[in-house]
Amino acid sequence: MSENIVSIKGLGVHYPIVGGWFGEKKIVKAVDNINIDIKRGQFFGLVGESGSGKTTLGRAILQAAPISKGEITFNDGERKFDVKSLKNQDLLDFRRRAQLIFQDPYAALSPRMTVRDIIAEPLEVMKLTENKEETNQRVRDIASECRLNIEHLRRFPHAFSGGQRQRISIARALVANPDFLVADESVAALDVSIQADILNLLKSLQKEHGLTFLFISHDLSVVAHVCDVVAVMYLGQIVEMAPNKALFRKPRHPYTAALLSAIPSLDPDAESQAIKLEGEIPSPLSPPSGCRFHTRCPHAKPRCSEEAPEWRQIDEEHFVSCHFADELNL
Ligand code: SF4
Repeated sequence: MSENIVSIKGLGVHYPIVGGWFGEKKIVKAVDNINIDIKRGQFFGLVGESGSGKTTLGRAILQAAPISKGEITFNDGERKFDVKSLKNQDLLDFRRRAQLIFQDPYAALSPRMTVRDIIAEPLEVMKLTENKEETNQRVRDIASECRLNIEHLRRFPHAFSGGQRQRISIARALVANPDFLVADESVAALDVSIQADILNLLKSLQKEHGLTFLFISHDLSVVAHVCDVVAVMYLGQIVEMAPNKALFRKPRHPYTAALLSAIPSLDPDAESQAIKLEGEIPSPLSPPSGCRFHTRCPHAKPRCSEEAPEWRQIDEEHFVSCHFADELNL
């Protein structure tokens, strides 16, 4: 568990846009100054509201979003990849090792392909098998690991429920035998009972194959169920990162505390303790000065709007970006 599979230093994903009455050029900093490491074998959770940049960060790691600043290093134990500069065969080699499980199991699968062809596609595109029989055997093996019925391989995606489609997506992501998977809101579109089933499947696949997951979700209760380490994003930046238990027991950033307080209680008589945040998440086109959270933070002081807080270690494996994290009683 000690070796880093992904190391991110000073990462920025910036998009130039032209807008307004006079066609001014502006830069949207969707992700700004991210510094994190993901260790091999971890189930690493990334949470935040919509628009916080979590999907963009996941895509940048897979070289599916432009890396404007900083670097991402991927280390599979035998080879190091500088993700920003990968091209041609190096990019294909990297893609075999790092895969994406899509958010929407209805939109992610081609309605014109059979389940067998959908799962086999990465093997054929990356030429990972010698012949059709080997491809078919690999497809059957991974389908049964993902608890799909072998009889279903001849059918088309429309014949399946949301949970079964997500199993097909997972089988497709796993068929090339990757080391690292980005699961982007992979259970958000499913009913609660099916969510638990898919989460348990991901956890057992992680153990069997020694996989590393970046699990992106807006739902902290889902993240609490599966993740070893959790990072919280706000407006393109990570504001807190800690092992699961430490973060849920004692959050050190006011934004994390507000997210945790909003998790519904199972007790119908319990009074809501939700911390109410004022206003909406600001636009990444013009983020607030100083601490980006100061316009909504119930603990903000004058220093917060003037000076950006440092990303610093506050406890063992616990990092935070808040001037007053040591003194706040959250
Ligand atoms: Fe709130 Fe200030 Fe801490 Fe930002 S630095 S989270 S505004 S207390």
